[in-house]
Amino acid sequence: MTQHTDQTVTPEPEQQSLFNEQAMAATASDPAARVEELRRLIEHHTYLYYAKDAPEISDFAYDSLMRELRELEHQHPELVDPSSPTQRVGGYVGDQFAAVRHEQRMYSLDNAMDLNELDEWLGRLEEFFGRMVPVVCELKIDGSSIALTYEDGRLVRAATRGDGTTGEDVTVNMRTVKDVPLRLREQGRDGVVRPGAFEVRGEVYMPKKSFDFLNRAAEANGGKVFANPRNAAAGSLRQKDAAVTAKRDLSTFLYAIADQNAIAAETQWDMLQWLSESGFHTNPDIRRCTTAAEVHEFCQQALENRGNLPYEIDGVVVKVDSFAQQAAMGFTARAPRWAIAFKFPPEEKTTLLRDITVQVGRTGALTPVAELVPVVVAGSTVARATLHNLDEVHRKDVRVGDTVIVRKAGDVIPEVLGPIAELRPADAEPWQMPAECPSCGSPVIREEGEAKHHCISIECPAQAQERLVHWASRGALDIDGMGDEIVGRLLETGRVTDVADYYTLDAVELSMLDMGRVNKDGEPIRLGQKTAQKLVDAIQASKERPLARVLFGIGMRHVGKTMAEALAAAFPSVDQLRAATEEQLAQVDGVGPKIARSVWVFLHTPANVEVLERLAARGVRMADDVVAVDAGPQPLDGLAFVLTGSLVESGMTRDEAGAALKALGAKVTGSVSKKTSYVVAGEAAGSKYDKALKLGVPVLDESQLMTLLETGQLPEL
Ligand code: AMP
Repeated sequence: MTQHTDQTVTPEPEQQSLFNEQAMAATASDPAARVEELRRLIEHHTYLYYAKDAPEISDFAYDSLMRELRELEHQHPELVDPSSPTQRVGGYVGDQFAAVRHEQRMYSLDNAMDLNELDEWLGRLEEFFGRMVPVVCELKIDGSSIALTYEDGRLVRAATRGDGTTGEDVTVNMRTVKDVPLRLREQGRDGVVRPGAFEVRGEVYMPKKSFDFLNRAAEANGGKVFANPRNAAAGSLRQKDAAVTAKRDLSTFLYAIADQNAIAAETQWDMLQWLSESGFHTNPDIRRCTTAAEVHEFCQQALENRGNLPYEIDGVVVKVDSFAQQAAMGFTARAPRWAIAFKFPPEEKTTLLRDITVQVGRTGALTPVAELVPVVVAGSTVARATLHNLDEVHRKDVRVGDTVIVRKAGDVIPEVLGPIAELRPADAEPWQMPAECPSCGSPVIREEGEAKHHCISIECPAQAQERLVHWASRGALDIDGMGDEIVGRLLETGRVTDVADYYTLDAVELSMLDMGRVNKDGEPIRLGQKTAQKLVDAIQASKERPLARVLFGIGMRHVGKTMAEALAAAFPSVDQLRAATEEQLAQVDGVGPKIARSVWVFLHTPANVEVLERLAARGVRMADDVVAVDAGPQPLDGLAFVLTGSLVESGMTRDEAGAALKALGAKVTGSVSKKTSYVVAGEAAGSKYDKALKLGVPVLDESQLMTLLETGQLPEL
């Protein structure tokens, strides 16, 4: 749920009165009580939203409760508690995971590979009890097993299954999973008082959409691509930095309790009910069956409906309903005898690999793509599948002309598993990455230690939109008004192909730019005179930006704002930068050999040189004025600052505040470490603030910052 962010929201009047007046009254008299109250309220509404899909308050109201709690915890650090809902998105970097011994073993499941094997198992049940006993059918969620321990209603530990006897302690990470209750009400909706300590078990999974999104982003940035949602869930859970887990959109379905005696339920069915009543997320797709035919029907429906579910399933788990009957059957060394996993048939087909083409992403990453003779897999036609990168093509050893095995589970990304060796044509050659970008013909490069090849030409059309928008963005050349839509139109009309073309636009021509839409009379909508003039003024103004903005705006790989500033400080003109050797570049603060190589190659790629020359010819400043006189010692010399949150009272942007600090001699960096001297926390400060607290870095609020900027004096803390 993206709406529940911790961004500052401007409250609407009546909602403000509903929440904030109460808040202020309680805050003034007893902050601890208000914090308690807020935590309860937020937990209740989180439960309604995530576990029940039935919110009772607006996202706005939820956000304001969260904001108030965050503020109170900020003002009263002694009230901060790891169980607080504000701690879900943590910036912790945990040590590697500690081992957890499971008090009750976490078993695997025996499999039935088809309906015959399922019937054999049902037959064994009937034999054992002398009759068919009730069973519960559940979906088999394709995620990772998880065990959650609660003590006095608080989540105290989360552990993976591991080898069944010993798992890994992933508590910090699981706290970030939004549908996991951190604290339970003392009694469930059913009125039953919860036991002091108990352990619930289930599956943590990644929804298909999030999985696709994650992989697509990884693909574009050359990051790790997960084979399936199950791996993605397990991988995301086992992150060293819980903040990464928090961003991964994991969810849970809980379906078991370690010690069945801990609760009043006597059947699987009632236990699922109890879990749901207690605030855990349970899967609604369950059925209690008393005949084999009903079980078959459930399996069949699950198989047919599989593609429509927002998460991945790989079968159906059938469990004896009664706990007493479960106990009578017991366990084998590996799995319970009272349950079976009916596995869906594999969704694999063979087809011909016609070709391997190369796709150029918006960031210049090159991805080989398998072009297949179309084949129907799992109900949909597959004609293309990503092969990720060159190493992957070689590891799988797929060649053009091969007959390959293609897999597709549900509606998740299709995958080429590998070739059928016997069917390979005699002349099939191992595939190679082309030496030139298929989009623009520039040389393709692969940096050391990276899986992806890249095209780094500024003129590559596949990357044009991204590059043009980035150049105009606020931190770069800051051409106000030059956003995605106008850039898109300029590209489409062919009027602009690279950033140097911006500086040839005039107001008359721009005012006629066809926006690709029509008004109610069917006439094309044009940009218009006023907007065009504003844009041209902004373009003109951008010519005078400092060199660091140009170096950031031009879009060299690995060169962010801070790096661009360091480069501009060391080499105050593009000419000097181009004249530098890789070794000289590597000496610059924070650069190092890898980035030095990347910068050097960029600045010596002919297409890029040509654009830089055209920019200079059109009046864009390519050098900073070097201040010859030493300004002498500055009050903040040697101190490193990090800014987080937004500065509300002064109305300054973070960039402006950063520039003001630098003018006093400070260094301003992007992330908090032990070396950070001060963190300035504005409104809605996020994980950097948390990290400052963790590392004991002093935090300044906005008014302290203003005093510092005015007087040059550090406040006493
Ligand atoms: P496998 O990993 O193939 O041996 O299958 C066993 C695993 O299936 C268990 O460890 C659980 O993590 C998982 N599983 C998924 N859904 C369920 C469910 N509804 N009931 C029991 N186990 C499940």
